[in-house]
Amino acid sequence: MRSSSAGVRGSPIRTCVGCGVRAAKSDLLRVVAVGGEAVADPAARRPGRGAYLHPREDCVERARRRRAIPRALRASGPLADGGLVGYVRSLTGAGDGQAAGRAEGDRARRGPHGEPAV
Ligand SMILES: [Zn+2]
Repeated sequence: MRSSSAGVRGSPIRTCVGCGVRAAKSDLLRVVAVGGEAVADPAARRPGRGAYLHPREDCVERARRRRAIPRALRASGPLADGGLVGYVRSLTGAGDGQAAGRAEGDRARRGPHGEPAV
């Protein structure tokens, strides 16, 4: 029942869950929760609620620290985000991949409170 008059009045604006800055949706990366994991949805094809953030490492890091992604997605628990971080890193081409092995990343993959991931 969505009216088609929504139209193309400029770009839709979304708020980056990392830095809190508003930006055109097309400038932000859509993130959705799939099976307890936060995954990048660059084509914006996946169903469900999406969170938006700048496809930059610092915004992803900020969002993770504030647990803004599960909150924005209304997830009932923490979301694994290692794949998302890796995706953004690959986009930005930052560093040499070795940084991905930091202890922080390992901890995030398991979830800070030890909840089962599946
Ligand atoms: Zn941002």
